[in-house]
Parts: sequence; C-alpha cells; structure tokens
Amino acid sequence: MTTFLEPPVAPTAPRWSAALERVLAGEGLALAAQPIVDVARGSVVGYELLARFDGPHQATPDVWFSHAERLGLGARLDAIVLARALDLRDDLPDDTFITVNISPLHLGDPALAAVRDRHRSLERIVLELTEHSAVDDCAAVARLLEPWREAGAKVAIDDAGSGYAGLQWLLALSPDLVKLDRALVDHLDEDEVKSALVAMLGGFADRLDAWVLAEGVERLAELDVLAHLGVPLAQGYLFRRPTLELWPTIEGDVRRHLEQRPARAVDPDRVGALVEVVRTRHRHEPPALPISVVVDGLGQPIALDLADGTWDRVLAVRPDETVRAVLERALTRDAHWRWHPVVCVDELRRVVGVVRLERLVHHVIGGSPDRPTTHEEEV
Ligand code: C2E
Ligand code: CA
Ligand code: CA
Repeated sequence: MTTFLEPPVAPTAPRWSAALERVLAGEGLALAAQPIVDVARGSVVGYELLARFDGPHQATPDVWFSHAERLGLGARLDAIVLARALDLRDDLPDDTFITVNISPLHLGDPALAAVRDRHRSLERIVLELTEHSAVDDCAAVARLLEPWREAGAKVAIDDAGSGYAGLQWLLALSPDLVKLDRALVDHLDEDEVKSALVAMLGGFADRLDAWVLAEGVERLAELDVLAHLGVPLAQGYLFRRPTLELWPTIEGDVRRHLEQRPARAVDPDRVGALVEVVRTRHRHEPPALPISVVVDGLGQPIALDLADGTWDRVLAVRPDETVRAVLERALTRDAHWRWHPVVCVDELRRVVGVVRLERLVHHVIGGSPDRPTTHEEEV
C-alpha cells in the first residue's frame, strides 16, 4: 500500500542520486540566462547563467544543488555548468560577460580545475561565489581563487548583505562585483534602512574598486532609488526573467523607461566634460588611426594606438575626476608616454573616450575652452 506520509529522506535519496547521475552524464540540464543591465545606459552588459533541470523532480535549482552537495556530487555539478557556460561564451554578444554560480568550497576540486585548465583563458567569465553555510576561512578561499584569477576569471560575491556574505568576505576576496541580495532590494524605495545599507555597501564596494549589482529588481520604484544611489548594475524580473532563449534583450515599458532617464549633468571641471569619442578595436583588428583604443573582451582598455605605434600603457580615468587631478596624474608618468591622451572609462572600466593632454592643460591654465580638435585636422 502506498502512503503519502513517506519519511522524506531515506526513500528519496536513491532517486536523487539517479537523477543527478543522469544530469552529470549530460542529460536534462539546460542553462537559462538573465540579463544584467547597465542602469545609466539601459544596455545589457552581461548575463547570469542559471541551471534548469528536467526530470522526475519538480524541484527548484537550489534544491537540486543542495541534494548534489549532500551526495558529494556538488563540485561535479558546478563543473558541468561551468563547462556548458564556456561553450556558450563563443556566441556571447560583444562586450558582455557571463556569470556562473560556483560554491567556493569547490574551487579547488579536480573536476572544476580540469574544466578551467581545458581553456586557454577564462576571459568574460565571472564566478559568483555563494556560500550558504558559513565559510570561516576567507583567506583559504582567496588562495583557491588565485589560479582562476590568473586564468582571467573575475569574481563576484553573491547575496551580499544577506548575512551570509559579510563585509569580511568582501575584504578578504576583493571581488570585482558585489551582488546585493534580493532581500535588500525588495521595496527599498519604502525602507530607509535598506536604502542606507545599499548606500553603505556601495561606498564599501567603491573603495574595493568593485562594481555593485542589485539583484531581484522587480519594480520601477526600486530601480529609480538604485539609480539615485549610484548603483551601476541591476538584474531582476523587472527587466527579464531568466530564459532559455539566448541572449535575452530588454523590451517594452522598462526599455522605454531606461531610455528616457535624464542624462547626468556634466560638470565643466570634471574630465567627463573634455572627453572625445574615439574608435575602439580588439587586438586582432587593424588600428584605426590617428587614434584608437585597443580593448579586451569586456571593452576595457589595454593599449592605445597612436600615430607612432601601439602603446601597451594606458592611464584610465573616470569622468567624475577633476581635470586638475587627472592632469597631475598624467604629468607624473614616464617621459616617453607623459603626453599621451588619457582614456576615460565608465564604472565598468569600459572605454568612454579619450582626453588629450592639451585640453587638460588649457582647462587648468584657463585658456579658451578650445573647440575639440578633430582627428582629421590633426593629421
Ligand atoms: P541565486 O544565484 O541568488 O540566483 C538568483 C535567483 O533569483 C534565480 O533563481 C533567479 O531566477 C531569481 N530571480 C532573478 N530575478 C528575480 C526577481 O526579480 N525576483 C525574484 N523573486 N527572483 C528573481 P533560480 O534560478 O531559481 O536559482 C535559485 C538558486 O539556485 C540560485 O540563487 C543559486 O543559489 C542556485 N543555482 C541556480 N543555478 C545554479 C548553478 O548553475 N550553479 C549553482 N551552484 N547554483 C545555482
Ligand atoms: Ca547567483
Ligand atoms: Ca543571488
């Protein structure tokens, strides 16, 4: 006689292990993507990849991952997701990245190391580290991350502010990306404690030179407060639910809302006011003279093409730095590249344009704010 009062664990354990072995053999697993949005520009800059399982268990992915962990299969499952993500990377739209969830406890596991070592580079991959059981030894995790970082992966701390990922994690791991937990974002427009916490975490991330990403954004009012607090990246059902259709874009009312957001006023004493837009190119493309910026897969500057060749040294500055401070930094460079233009980058370190030294000097000594010299005039 069947009874619906079966004890939960013992009889289901063998079924979970069979279901998981099937997934590890490559069946019944798909990756959904959810866009990550640049709040100021309204563009998609990346995608979180989230596992989707089919099979006898109508369970959410976190349940699948916790059963895998319980059965000692967690690292192999993370490894298969990472391998799939790396396959998908080949078709990624230009200048975007993908994030993949990995338990920090698995970073040193041979199954994951094997996937890492099969690839020449992990460029454009961000590892999202979540740990729902306390990981005391942050220093050990930081050490495990080293070969991943050397291979070019970036690091995100998932669920920051949730009580799991505390400030000491941020300090020890020095992540590139801090993902604010959904609970912090939920109705933060009506909760001053939450918005103060977000502002605090934002300031902290800034000092670590990390980008902040607010996840679980479901309402326009939440987005507006996040934008006001200067949070550069957002993700959530408001923009798009995770979807198996790659690569998801943002449409409809929210797209219009993002497009209509007023542009930030330009302060004439900040370098942002002196930026000239230039061509960017990838390493394998020919230089676009007289000046272009060579960028990596994320659109971040790695070299500068000038009339006398390609220079692998770039001074990157932010648009909100003062003209005087940037000029001082520029002039303390080595003599042979002291007069090169500086490259202006956004919160994600992507190229916005260049600023010529002549313009910085003119501005500081109070010369007439010359009209921008066009490249054609110069050659
Ligand atoms: P997570 O990494 O924090 O992923 C975010 C979860 O929030 C996803 O649920 C996503 O669908 C959901 N979400 C996104 N935007 C919103 C929103 O605006 N509102 C609400 N209410 N939810 C939103 P999902 O896909 O069910 O994943 C749940 C958890 O399962 C993940 O949490 C992660 O811990 C785990 N997981 C999913 N895929 C993977 C994976 O490939 N590897 C590992 N290790 N864990 C995974
Ligand atoms: Ca995540
Ligand atoms: Ca999360």
